[in-house]
Amino acid sequence: MNSLQKSRQHVLEQIQHACQQAQRDPAEVQLLAVSKTHPSAVLQEMYQTGQRAFGENYLQEALEKIEALQDLEIEWHFIGHVQRNKTKHLAEKFAWVHGVDRLIIAERLSNQRSDQQAPLNICLQVNIDGQDSKDGCSPGEVPALVEQSSRLPNLRLRGLMVIPAPNNTAAFQDAKQLFDTVKAQHAQPADWDTLSMGMSGDLNAAIAAGSTMVRIGTALFGARDYSK
Ligand SMILES: *Cc1c(COP(=O)(O)O)cnc(C)c1O
Repeated sequence: MNSLQKSRQHVLEQIQHACQQAQRDPAEVQLLAVSKTHPSAVLQEMYQTGQRAFGENYLQEALEKIEALQDLEIEWHFIGHVQRNKTKHLAEKFAWVHGVDRLIIAERLSNQRSDQQAPLNICLQVNIDGQDSKDGCSPGEVPALVEQSSRLPNLRLRGLMVIPAPNNTAAFQDAKQLFDTVKAQHAQPADWDTLSMGMSGDLNAAIAAGSTMVRIGTALFGARDYSK
């Protein structure tokens, strides 16, 4: 096994173990490979281990990789902050956008998604633990945002995305509770199936609380080098 195979295997085992501990079915938790800063060749190598879903944070970097790897069947997720003037590329090139936190962003994504494409999957980013510096809407804004954005024709609203402060496992439970509250009131509860939370350092706690998609970078690819 090469080192990417090993690290992916290790992360999958960690997910499985966390699911066992939490008495959950491992099939309920998807692994998103967060590949920011890593070159296309590394993504291709990871793809060959069986990984299909990749998450990127920086639009320009992501567009270059999407172009370079267009022959592969990668499901591209945008997990960075969504700027209003960048929605067009997101709507055209990605399968998922996790960082939607305002109605205007959802509207633009829906308008700019082509009718020929499958609806764009989105998650609402919630600032679940009230951090000053973080993006995301407040928990109180979620019900109205859900109601309004689930009416947009070219989107499929799938759930919530959170990035709590490190070691704040209670925030994962708060996110799960909010997720369940919305699901109970949702017009199409089957569509509301994604709770995107947990990174390399806290995936166990996130899965214990109910995460359905962990976003893993470092544990799969090693430490990131931002100097390049
Ligand atoms: C970079 C990033 C990750 C991955 O973090 P690791 O600690 O490297 O696993 C997950 N989610 C978001 C939003 C990120 O920006």
